[in-house]
Amino acid sequence: MQIDTVEFFYAAMPEVTLEADGSQDALLVRVVSDDGHVGWGECEASPLTSIAAYVTPRSHGVCQPVSASVVGQAIDTPDDIRRIASEVRRRSMDLLQAAHTWSGIEIALWDLLGRRREEPVWRLLGYETSHPKVPYASMLLGSTPQETLERARAAREDGYRAVKVGWGAFGASVASDADHVAAAREGLGDDGELLLDAGQIWVDDVEAASERLEALARARVTWLEEPFVADAYSAYAALAARTPSVALAGGEGAHTASMATNVIDYGAVDYVQVDTARIGGIGPAADVAAHAVMRGVVYVNHTFTSHLALSASLQPYAGLADHRLCEYPVHPRPVALAVTREHLARDGNGEVRAPDAPGLGVDVDLAALDPYLRTVEILIDGVSLFRSPAATGNLG
Ligand SMILES: [Mg+2]
Repeated sequence: MQIDTVEFFYAAMPEVTLEADGSQDALLVRVVSDDGHVGWGECEASPLTSIAAYVTPRSHGVCQPVSASVVGQAIDTPDDIRRIASEVRRRSMDLLQAAHTWSGIEIALWDLLGRRREEPVWRLLGYETSHPKVPYASMLLGSTPQETLERARAAREDGYRAVKVGWGAFGASVASDADHVAAAREGLGDDGELLLDAGQIWVDDVEAASERLEALARARVTWLEEPFVADAYSAYAALAARTPSVALAGGEGAHTASMATNVIDYGAVDYVQVDTARIGGIGPAADVAAHAVMRGVVYVNHTFTSHLALSASLQPYAGLADHRLCEYPVHPRPVALAVTREHLARDGNGEVRAPDAPGLGVDVDLAALDPYLRTVEILIDGVSLFRSPAATGNLG
């Protein structure tokens, strides 16, 4: 079986705001093999740049478009996916968006292989069971502490045992941050798991971050996430050594497996968060999960968009029973909800799991997505390098 076509569908809300909400647009990838098997994946971030990275003319031998390593390749086993990944890495070495573009294709290839073998992706990864995860309601901080309190309370009333708030106003001042954190704890109640996402606000300023530790410890947060930019490993390690001690989480910005293992090995995080749609797909994410197990660090998915991306993000650690938490997008925009026909709903225990169904276990619904689809064309000297496919034929 060979990779025959790779198509990109760009969908977006009519208005994309400045909120740090990645569910406002989407780039879906459909891969079709020469014998008619289909797989779907989703890229994280900046759809048009990712399309361009697929079709751009080469700049030199190791700055080739992602397409140069994909179409026509044999695809029969997971090893083929890893082989193609290493070719992308080599040929598109200097094309920095390549990791994003490839991530969506890589995920689609796992979906395609799983559907062809009628096995869930997690089984192809060697897991025997898909264990339930405790979804944490992931939401932006309120504009006031009262609003943060109400959001946390609403999530609790909606049955979430764990809540994460962050971004937005967080980082404004030590006093305001303390008020928000206390408000989130009050809204969530004493026994809920509270997670705090700083959204990289302190860049690499350990002193600024450490001024917040007392309020975080007082509110008994499970983790402080992304106090710094993704690769500020020494800043992470320095903050981890400060008192009062607050567990750190990071890794969602990793666009290679090494970036995520570095935040474990050199950043001293207790939780590593991986976005499969950014790190290069499901294969490298599973490698990071294995590394986390070896180092006694807890693996957590990162995702804030569709249930296609959610399912992909769950696969790499579906079989790790002790790695219990799962990021769950609570308020995705309509475009993200429209991506799939099925949604990974919470069960009677309020838990979710990677579906026990072929591939990623969710079907893309192009008809539902149609109102959000945008038509893209890329021309050079009047010659078309890319044109959006027609949204017909809900293959797969
Ligand atoms: Mg985050």
